Amino acid sequence: MIYRPYGSTGKQVSVIGFGGMRFGKDDDYAAEVVRYANARGINYFDTAPFYCDDRSEGIFGKAFKNMPGDFFVSTKSLIRKEKTAMEVRGRIELSLERMGVEKINFFHMWCIMDMEQYRQIMAPGGPYEGAMKAKEEGLVDHVVFSTHCTGEDIRTIIEDDVFEGVLLGYNVINHPFRQEGVQAALERNVGVVTMNPLGGGLIPRYRDHFSFIRQDEEETTVQAALRFNASQPGITVVLSGMGSIEEVDENVEAVSRPLVISDAKRQEIESRLTEKLDTLCTNCQYCREKKCPSNIKMNHFMEAYNMLLLMGDEQEVLQQLDYYRQNGDLKADDAMPGECIACGVCEALCTQKLPIIQRLDEVQKIINRQA
Ligand code: SF4
Ligand code: SF4
Repeated sequence: MIYRPYGSTGKQVSVIGFGGMRFGKDDDYAAEVVRYANARGINYFDTAPFYCDDRSEGIFGKAFKNMPGDFFVSTKSLIRKEKTAMEVRGRIELSLERMGVEKINFFHMWCIMDMEQYRQIMAPGGPYEGAMKAKEEGLVDHVVFSTHCTGEDIRTIIEDDVFEGVLLGYNVINHPFRQEGVQAALERNVGVVTMNPLGGGLIPRYRDHFSFIRQDEEETTVQAALRFNASQPGITVVLSGMGSIEEVDENVEAVSRPLVISDAKRQEIESRLTEKLDTLCTNCQYCREKKCPSNIKMNHFMEAYNMLLLMGDEQEVLQQLDYYRQNGDLKADDAMPGECIACGVCEALCTQKLPIIQRLDEVQKIINRQA
């Protein structure tokens, strides 16, 4: 395993981090997977309240009772739920209790979507104040943030010098969108953890389409995507959700070779990554957090639209919608994309800043052409 300094914190962390958002139903097996990952050299473990039906922190708590090696734990406070310093304090105490640890090594102000939310966090008596107080008292080592902002906004936050690290969505598909933030972190010696290295499952789902990112026949498309992140200057840790021993092995194997991407491969990736690929929906489902006034399941329509971007064929969009109908995700009486009233609620929540309203309109036109 390769270890890297996490910014200027003095901590050496494994280049592959364990994301605790993909555990199955069996908590005992999940805890075994955590311990196995630690035995294989992973020492950065990331969780959050609400992951896996709110079981994730408890699973780590089970595993931490009997870990084979040293480790660091990262968890979070959700800005939209804990709005005051007192509420953040309550969240920290609950996380410590659930995980059975004396301190949280990396505590995230979770999911800053835009600069307005950043200002709310930093307001007097707000979440940041609560986190810093906990740090003074030794309950937290480092206060960091996670974000879906643009690279430029991430630069602004980093240059305020209030956080010691950042967790951001970054992968081979969308990396130009946040590159500026990674660069700012590199300049300021701030740790960077990347989440979503597999594009919300898009890369494994369309592994044939993305096979061009592989450097040779020996690596899988998933491994190539992890290696892409791990080889970027400025990136400290690549988080990967792991639900099984096999996934731990595949992830550890991905970084067992030198983390170098040849210039030729890098150029090929850049040339294949059209502006369109950079704007794929990752099915993160944040857009559904607040209710759509028209009850549209917009994430399914956005995923269907992905097919147009990936395959350039309207028939693929229709086939994807058929697939949702067959497996029950879309029902006959569900709202159609044309029922969108363009209120903008979902676009404000979209982690990829996608033009959802315009795409819904295009999907409806594709459906109409078929009729
Ligand atoms: S913009 Fe359209 S799809 Fe999005 S929340 Fe508003 S009505 Fe629903
Ligand atoms: S439309 Fe945006 S917020 Fe919704 S699932 Fe896709 S990427 Fe996520």
